[in-house]
Amino acid sequence: DAVMDMEPAICAVTKAESIENTDVITMRNINKSYRMGTQSLHVLKDVSLTVKQGEYLAILGPSGSGKSTLMNIIGCMDVMDSGNYLLDGVAIEQAKEKELVKIRNQKIGFIFQKYHLIPTYNVLQNIVMPLLMRGMGLAEAQEASMDTIDMLGLSQRIGHKPNELSGGQQQRVAIARALVGKPAILLADEPTGALDVNSGKEVLKLFENLNQMGNTIVMITHDLNVAKHAGRVVRIVDGEIYEN
Ligand code: ADP
Ligand code: MG
Repeated sequence: DAVMDMEPAICAVTKAESIENTDVITMRNINKSYRMGTQSLHVLKDVSLTVKQGEYLAILGPSGSGKSTLMNIIGCMDVMDSGNYLLDGVAIEQAKEKELVKIRNQKIGFIFQKYHLIPTYNVLQNIVMPLLMRGMGLAEAQEASMDTIDMLGLSQRIGHKPNELSGGQQQRVAIARALVGKPAILLADEPTGALDVNSGKEVLKLFENLNQMGNTIVMITHDLNVAKHAGRVVRIVDGEIYEN
């Protein structure tokens, strides 16, 4: 009887002691070189970076500083040479190439400068794609995407092909596609780089709203005026990260 009475108490302790890790990205001493024949170019030099859940971080740096290389590693699109990378609780340095594809599909919502929409697919087909890639059925995927489509003001455009949309609308489709899978982070590389001033402002306003709704955002840019919209800015210069 005494043992029976103790059981609920033990359960309660176990539950209370489970600690939540609020870091979505923890990188320690990441190095990356490109090899071309006998030459080697050391691009990322002991990069360490932490991003907390709900943070909106801008990585600011000039052309050639290593931004896209870093984005490719954050987004599990390329492998690092050395260092440790914990993404939403998963140790990336131990993951095999095949696992990286799955991790990438589940954890990352990508937004690119040039949208990267599939030109032969309409808006709805582009947006549901990440859900289909996870094995969800078409009807369920369309149902699950409707709130996001509404939120981004695309309800009247779902049958349009990308070339029938403005640049700003195309980027909103890309943002919807990035959001539908509820990724751990939104990862954006120069998201306003191809847009006119007003469409760029709209995208930045949208990012601020998405962040206020709780989304974690990492935005890569060469433009200080764009970076200023983020909650925190780090600089990358010649492959090294500087906080402030
Ligand atoms: P950024 O995005 O800041 O402009 P990148 O990460 O694209 O910088 O490039 C950093 C450096 O690495 C540059 O010198 C670039 O020429 C070089 N680089 C980028 N990708 C490759 C590659 N696949 N092979 C060889 N060199 C590369
Ligand atoms: Mg780049």
